[in-house]
Amino acid sequence: MDDLVGTPTEKLERFASLPPSSRPPRITLEEWKVLAIGANAVSDEYLIRLADQYRAALHPDLVVTYVVDRNINYSNVCTSICNFCAFYRSPGEEGGYLHSHDEIFRKVEETIELGGSGILMQGGLHPDLPLAWYTTLLRELKRRYRIHLHCFSPTEIYGISEATGLAWREVLLALKDSGLDSMPGGGGEILVDEIRRKRRSRVDSREWLEIMEIAHELDLPTTATMMFGHGEELVHRLEHLEKLRQLQDRTGGFISFIPWNFQPDNTPLGKAFPDRMTGSEYLRWLAITRLYLHNIPNLQVSWLTQGLEVGKLGLRSGANDLGSTMIEENVIRPAGAAHEATEDVLRNAIREAGFTPCVRNAAYRRLAPPGGRAPSYSVSSEQLLETAGRNASRSEARSEA
Ligand code: SF4
Repeated sequence: MDDLVGTPTEKLERFASLPPSSRPPRITLEEWKVLAIGANAVSDEYLIRLADQYRAALHPDLVVTYVVDRNINYSNVCTSICNFCAFYRSPGEEGGYLHSHDEIFRKVEETIELGGSGILMQGGLHPDLPLAWYTTLLRELKRRYRIHLHCFSPTEIYGISEATGLAWREVLLALKDSGLDSMPGGGGEILVDEIRRKRRSRVDSREWLEIMEIAHELDLPTTATMMFGHGEELVHRLEHLEKLRQLQDRTGGFISFIPWNFQPDNTPLGKAFPDRMTGSEYLRWLAITRLYLHNIPNLQVSWLTQGLEVGKLGLRSGANDLGSTMIEENVIRPAGAAHEATEDVLRNAIREAGFTPCVRNAAYRRLAPPGGRAPSYSVSSEQLLETAGRNASRSEARSEA
């Protein structure tokens, strides 16, 4: 059947009967306004059922993935002043920090010891770091540990470009040549400039999308995110999804979508919007994103901001991924996301939801057969000990100098 034929409700219903690999119907932004937020909007239960069925069509093997990695926030110094952020310090402000490369190496070694396959590295928009600070770090991380490097959101690429005078493409090329494997979708927030201006986001929606498009052109896969529940209108959420779907149509470079709700604690914006989004509202929008972004293969439920119980329900609302163990997380936790989980906790949650757990890397490549645990796939323990020994000798040499 032609994907443009039928009423919005008929098109939506076709998601329920899709055989694997068939093309889902295209529901326009105007049609989604009717289905998701109009006076006759469809119910949560209906959306969740269809999203679960579409998840099963995309991922028929009943496997839910997760990643063991560490979120390394190399610096909290930032020239931006986003009013939803409890993490940053302005340049020169007390409490600002910048990790040395050696400190980052130590964190990576701890991550590998815990079975981690890679790192998610993000930071503020530091005004003084040259490009070589980033490229040397990436090269050395790759040389020493051969781990997956999932680093630097479009907002940081914008910041590095501003600090160095280089074009976005030059920055991305240099980072990729130095070992960058994929990019996180941080800074997506809501891709509607009316909202972004109010949130004091540094990068507007066109800039964020253009940096992503360049990354995809350079064969750097990326994730996409939506931070919602901070005073935006419901239609803004749909407009955000529409922009991502259009870019994905052109590039195919988004490997996953991660919607997470605003955490208000310790943020200026939290005074205006102190209430956390309920689990039921989150799950409704998780289901909508699964159906709207039918061209993005993976959907991650945010257990970090919603807790594991909602996380489990999310796996029956369209999501096929439970995200990361988050060995270290410094950005969302200060704003009130206090949930914690080990690899075992995530695996048990996946089983309790009726699925088989499978560890993956940041590019969503499965690293073990379904049911298998995180292997030691990056460096051997001998290599790790050798590296740790080298680092210790260097520290001693420095302290002797
Ligand atoms: S969200 Fe990112 S860019 Fe905005 S202030 Fe915080 S660290 Fe800086």
